[in-house]
Amino acid sequence: MTDPNRPADFPGWSAFFGAGAGESGILLLLDFDGTLSEIVENPDAAELRPGNAQTLDKLSRKPRLTVGIVSGRSLQDVADRIALSNLIYAGNHGMEIKGPGIRYLHPEVAAAVPGLQEIRSRVSTALAGIPGVQVEDKTLTLTVHYRRAPARYHEEVESIVRSVAHPETSTDQYRITYAKAAIEVRPAVDWHKGRALEFIRSRLAARAYTIYIGDDRTDEDAFEAAQAAGGCGIFVGPADAPSCARYRLESPAAVSAVLADLSLR
Ligand SMILES: [Mg+2]
Repeated sequence: MTDPNRPADFPGWSAFFGAGAGESGILLLLDFDGTLSEIVENPDAAELRPGNAQTLDKLSRKPRLTVGIVSGRSLQDVADRIALSNLIYAGNHGMEIKGPGIRYLHPEVAAAVPGLQEIRSRVSTALAGIPGVQVEDKTLTLTVHYRRAPARYHEEVESIVRSVAHPETSTDQYRITYAKAAIEVRPAVDWHKGRALEFIRSRLAARAYTIYIGDDRTDEDAFEAAQAAGGCGIFVGPADAPSCARYRLESPAAVSAVLADLSLR
């Protein structure tokens, strides 16, 4: 039996098509950072790997294939970085979605935006004296990055954000989450990449075979949702990393190769 926490190496598209998958179309959803782009020290510098733009464009023009990007970045950010018009873009972990035939903004999230702006202005003021801190406004979420702040400030940054945002996060409308060298304030809604996948499926491709490719912890919800719908998840990363995805690819370079192969079919 296959260990459920250790995805099998991706066997290639022939195995899929051989099993009859994709006869009712394919919904192909992909994460951006670490999947379509290499991970880079400065997130502002992330871009599509060479060749991916042409491949994605080709894939998105195939008649029975729907292609979308599901990212933690804001919708505008990820759409600008990819800049292809036939794709669906889901930003802020799917809280905002836009593309041909689809447009979505989570209603409770929309209502939380003015409060987030208010928190952002207080947080920026409170952190002004600490070097190397970046307050990123993703409109629907607020991220404070401290990777470039001296290590002695890291705990202080987190505690300042927690206390400054406390009036809001003590209600059930907002919550704090932690990422790599970052702390986030976001609307407390039951929504994630898996829900975004289900929403896109229901609107555009209810019968399609769904494939989700990603490298991050936040992609696990989407792997689960794809597999619950009879499709599959493909985890990008080393063989010893646990994931609920059925298959695995080693690196963004391997993702590029597999996508290019699909585009030739
Ligand atoms: Mg990623």
